[in-house]
Amino acid sequence: MRNLVLILGDQLDRQSAVFDDFDPEQDVVWMAEVAEESTKVWVHKARIVTFLSAMRHFAEKLRTEGIHVDYLKLDAAENPGSFGVALEMAASRLKPKKIIMVEAGEWQVRENFRARAESLGLPLDECEDRRFLASHADFAKHLKGRKQLRMEFFYREMRVKHQVLMEAGKPVGGEWNFDQENRKSFSKEGPPLHAAPRCFKPDAITQEVMRVVEARFPEHPGSLVDFDWPLTTEEARLCLHDFIEKRLPDFGDYQDAMWTREPWLFHSRLSVVMNLKLLDPREVIAAAEKAYRSGSAPLAAVEGFIRQILGWREYVRGIYWHFMPDYVGLNELQATQPLPKFYWDGQTEMNCLHDAIGQTLRYGYAHHIQRLMVTGLFALLLGVRPQAVHEWYLAVYVDAIEWVELPNTLGMSQHGDGGIMASKPYIASGKYIQRMSNYCSGCRYDPAKSMGANACPFTTLYWDFLMRHEDRLKQNQRMSMQVRNLNRLSEGDKTAIREQAEAVRQRLQA
Ligand SMILES: Cc1cc2nc3c(=O)[nH]c(=O)nc-3n(C[C@H](O)[C@H](O)[C@H](O)COP(=O)(O)OP(=O)(O)OC[C@H]3O[C@@H](n4cnc5c(N)ncnc54)[C@H](O)[C@@H]3O)c2cc1C
Ligand code: SF4
Repeated sequence: MRNLVLILGDQLDRQSAVFDDFDPEQDVVWMAEVAEESTKVWVHKARIVTFLSAMRHFAEKLRTEGIHVDYLKLDAAENPGSFGVALEMAASRLKPKKIIMVEAGEWQVRENFRARAESLGLPLDECEDRRFLASHADFAKHLKGRKQLRMEFFYREMRVKHQVLMEAGKPVGGEWNFDQENRKSFSKEGPPLHAAPRCFKPDAITQEVMRVVEARFPEHPGSLVDFDWPLTTEEARLCLHDFIEKRLPDFGDYQDAMWTREPWLFHSRLSVVMNLKLLDPREVIAAAEKAYRSGSAPLAAVEGFIRQILGWREYVRGIYWHFMPDYVGLNELQATQPLPKFYWDGQTEMNCLHDAIGQTLRYGYAHHIQRLMVTGLFALLLGVRPQAVHEWYLAVYVDAIEWVELPNTLGMSQHGDGGIMASKPYIASGKYIQRMSNYCSGCRYDPAKSMGANACPFTTLYWDFLMRHEDRLKQNQRMSMQVRNLNRLSEGDKTAIREQAEAVRQRLQA
């Protein structure tokens, strides 16, 4: 045997560089399902099933092409439960001359494979992941000479470099950004009629994985009852086209809107298939641009959607690799509160959190504003240790992989990096949630109140956060208006809010 081609669960790309020089006569693909990947954090059952079933489908596809796949199933008797040991066993059995893999999507996993290959005395060839549009070198070039990082400038460079929504050297429509048009909420009647997303009943392979996961991880959070995620490239493409045709035109308008028991609204659900590398982001961007050029979706919606993928997705990856391994330990606001227990079961009287967490446990999904401005916002205002918040997000979403989850959570949502990711903390009172959703109308709390028995905990904690971090926030121009508003509170009110916030913290620690 010549090369052992190692493929991880988030590297399911048939066009990957590991296949460039692949010789089925001499090379073997090695894939392993290991329990440690599901127990490092307390992983949602749907996330485990997504990864394992997508891996099994991918392995089947390779086999039908005549490729020898050496596959270690989770429930195999000889499975040691860890990647390192499993690789050692495979290497001593198969005796390869070299290991080839795409660079892992998690810093620690990459380090572990490097160390293991060295201890085995085997050369390790790490290929670049082609399913990103910016390489590490591209991001380093972008960083050069910059004191401050901002996604917007990176995004503009990406638009020019990849000639996306460009015309004669200028952005189509004369603007780079149509964010101002993309902040609508729904009327009292709720979301306009919209088609449910394309979804997939579990096939025999997925059903088998579901049985294994239920038996092996019965206590893990989340449910498999509604499991319907795409798990192959063919299914991913069907989802892409369904989204482009039926929901992209309204994506921009309602990008930030939320509504009870409406988990998907006008979102694409494509993060998981892009993150597993089943779908190339270039294909997604091209399909969205084509929809604009053919007149079937407005520019603001298309630009807003493309910015998430060509801008934010690539940008957070750049941040992750540039600032790891220190990044994961940052805690600039010195937040120490534990994560409230209700994050794991949704049992809270706060209706917005009840809905967003309930939906997360049911589907392994919440859209961006639910993650940022409901679950993330509450943890930030409460002062939860960012590492505990990170572990929760890494566990409960089907699309969670550290390179994308960590900067979004610790940086954008918790401001734990002190402003590397976002120039200011994303903070708001319950009134923001009231404006963007119908959650508050079904809640026992009042978003306008910061004191008293029915005060909204978000609103109490919002003012408390401003007071706790006033000195730091005063120095940030973008926060000055919010900080100035503190002056509207009397000293008596400030004391009462502090006491009420402390009571909320005490109650949630119990
Ligand atoms: C605290 C927090 C944690 C998050 N954790 C993850 C995660 O683990 N995995 C993940 O893929 N995304 C994460 N995001 C980003 C974003 O919320 C999800 O990508 C999005 O909700 C996925 O749903 P969708 O595919 O329907 O997205 P859509 O709303 O349809 O957006 C289209 C695509 O844009 C990309 N995108 C949008 N926003 C971001 C962003 N901020 N960063 C990176 N890509 C983005 C995604 O690939 C997404 O599929 C997180 C955001 C926050 C605030
Ligand atoms: S009142 Fe406060 S807790 Fe209740 S739904 Fe609104 S924001 Fe959430």
